[in-house]
Amino acid sequence: MKIAMIGSGYVGLVSGACFADFGHNVVCIDKDATKISNLDNNIMPIYEPGLADLVKRNVDARRLAFSTNLPESVRDCDAIFIAVGTPSRRGDGHADLSYVYAATEEIANSISKPTVVVTKSTVPVGTGDEVEIILGKHQPRELFSVVSNPEFLREGAAISDFKRPDRIVIGTEDEWAKNVMSEIYRPLFLNQSPILFTGRRTAELTKYAANAFLATKITFINEIADLCEKVGADVQEVSRGIGLDNRIGSKFLHAGPGYGGSCFPKDTLALMKTAQDNDSPVRIVEAVVQINDQRKRAMGRKVIHALDGDARGKRVALLGLTFKPNTDDMRDAPSIAIAQTLIDAGAEVTAYDPEGMEIAKELMPSVQMADSSYSAADDTDAIVIVTEWDAFRALDLAKLAEVMKGNVLVDLRNIYNPTEVTQAGLMYTSIGRNR
Ligand code: NAD
Repeated sequence: MKIAMIGSGYVGLVSGACFADFGHNVVCIDKDATKISNLDNNIMPIYEPGLADLVKRNVDARRLAFSTNLPESVRDCDAIFIAVGTPSRRGDGHADLSYVYAATEEIANSISKPTVVVTKSTVPVGTGDEVEIILGKHQPRELFSVVSNPEFLREGAAISDFKRPDRIVIGTEDEWAKNVMSEIYRPLFLNQSPILFTGRRTAELTKYAANAFLATKITFINEIADLCEKVGADVQEVSRGIGLDNRIGSKFLHAGPGYGGSCFPKDTLALMKTAQDNDSPVRIVEAVVQINDQRKRAMGRKVIHALDGDARGKRVALLGLTFKPNTDDMRDAPSIAIAQTLIDAGAEVTAYDPEGMEIAKELMPSVQMADSSYSAADDTDAIVIVTEWDAFRALDLAKLAEVMKGNVLVDLRNIYNPTEVTQAGLMYTSIGRNR
């Protein structure tokens, strides 16, 4: 199959490279010329484990190419995937669909043979209908079919998620489009990955429902963690106690500083808006959005509390800035609000992150970036573990205690054993464990 992927970001680049690895002929398109020229030189625009090798292998095999020229690249494709961003629209929280519609306009003027146009971006219910209307203004109805194929990959494990997905959702009722999509995903049919064919609107909503459910699960355990702190219970044990119940499941039950990232914050907000507009509010999701927003600054206050309630003139080191490990993605990362809360309270903040500092520098100009965990900790009053990178799981606690001025360790990911930390001479605060 000949495939065009519009948008070469986290989703488009990974999906395009994986489709090429399946044996398809793929061109990944982006309007960012620097991104494309870097990709031509095997320089990845994002940090994602295994991606550079996968891209190189498929470029060398001449199955994967990059381009800024959308009209030429999509002209004779069997399928065109739209994988552009759908951020929150400024001011109202609805998904901003301007990139999706701009890409659609460009496709509409360029296709020359029957083509399946697939929205892989996360888009609100009804977006496929709009895409169909735009295409229909320029092309006869029999030349295209619009399909929804939401993506469920997780950054940091994106390649294995794409190649071994829990399920693939394909929203179309058109037999021709079903056949094209089946051919594209054939290697996964052979892997026996479940493929669900649904209506287009159902596929669109399924993506939002999945993300909102996961965000709810995280928010639920975060509130239980707060209660644990008040009543002397241990949230780690509560999580295990409920997670072993097959009806609940153990994933997404790790208490922490609140969810962030490129998807959950904007997708929960967009679902909430769609639901309100349709007079069918999802009040659980509304509560989740509100609780999670408040939680990030509350984590900053937790650090201040550990500093005896006063951060003025104190030095605090943040270990981990990205919203989760194994990515350089800083979008809506809790570290941003935590750092700002500390700075607002008069603290001086330093930070170290294995991959996120390049992007973080722009977002948090008042935070001083260090080149290792220990240099970040140097002469500080408190260290805060914000993201659970492997590099932070086995720190030399005695060495930290030695280089620090103070002795406060706030572990927002519960990756340390309280006794071990205390024995190293540090004052330990974690989440939902009453210490
Ligand atoms: P991204 O910002 O990393 O990448 C989007 C890319 O599209 C950018 O490089 C941008 O330059 C390019 N682009 C925008 N308009 C274009 C146009 N007209 N022509 C060519 N290129 C254009 O975004 P992302 O994180 O890959 O997310 C893409 C979509 O996938 C979003 O809807 C997101 O919600 C969804 N999604 C993301 C993830 C994730 O983990 N990041 C997971 C599942 C779904």
